[in-house]
Amino acid sequence: MRESALIVSKTLGILAPEIKPGVTTLYLDKLAEEFIRDHGAEPGFLGLYDFPNTLCMSPNAQVVHGIPNETPLQDGDIISIDCGAVKNGFYGDHAYTFEVGEVLPETKKLLEVTKESLYVGIAEFKSGNRTGDVGYAIQKYTEDHGYGVVRELVGHGLGKTMHEDPEMPNYGKRGRGKKFVEGMVVAIEPMINLGTKRIKQLPDGWTILTADNKPSAHFEHNVALVDGKPELLSTFQYIYESLNLKTNEENQFRVKIYD
Ligand code: MG
Ligand code: MG
Repeated sequence: MRESALIVSKTLGILAPEIKPGVTTLYLDKLAEEFIRDHGAEPGFLGLYDFPNTLCMSPNAQVVHGIPNETPLQDGDIISIDCGAVKNGFYGDHAYTFEVGEVLPETKKLLEVTKESLYVGIAEFKSGNRTGDVGYAIQKYTEDHGYGVVRELVGHGLGKTMHEDPEMPNYGKRGRGKKFVEGMVVAIEPMINLGTKRIKQLPDGWTILTADNKPSAHFEHNVALVDGKPELLSTFQYIYESLNLKTNEENQFRVKIYD
């Protein structure tokens, strides 16, 4: 599972420097597919429930499950990229919302807070806790900023299939839900809207977008419960290396990276 998480992490890392105005999401999708196959893995989303591409590409008001296309990204856009890969029969599932050129301050803040809420949630993925503890933490953190927490889509267990028990909602009540057990691997993935929590779907049967057309952000890590504590299997470090960003945000968790 570490290997699979590493591939999806590196895939987002090679995409990061390519994300600029004028680039199409279909081009980025092809880059990702090539990279994943070159590294002995298969795209995890391609063909899954009949999804047509390697990446889910969701710009601006799109929450998740957007389909890559020939529309060039524009200065001021945000683009949520969700990447799945399967290696040795195990899935990795990883997402990050990128800025394209210069983004409005209120949108920047949404990305910042959503990413912070991911870590706030991960910290609650520990022995003795339940799914509701993670959900509560993410909901509280983001609603305190006035944002909308999507209800219809949730994180999930991860393993030999992409979506396993338990469901990992980004909302909930402390002490409720399924209890975490040692060795469990989950995908924690807040989907947070600048405005309303309500969503709608495009006629393509895939694309989910906000009901008020305001921006939405999505960050996702794969996390294992090891010795009672969360251990990150995926990492944003490849993205940060590509973009020359320095952060220590992942230092609070155990991360074992190997090549
Ligand atoms: Mg995902
Ligand atoms: Mg997921």
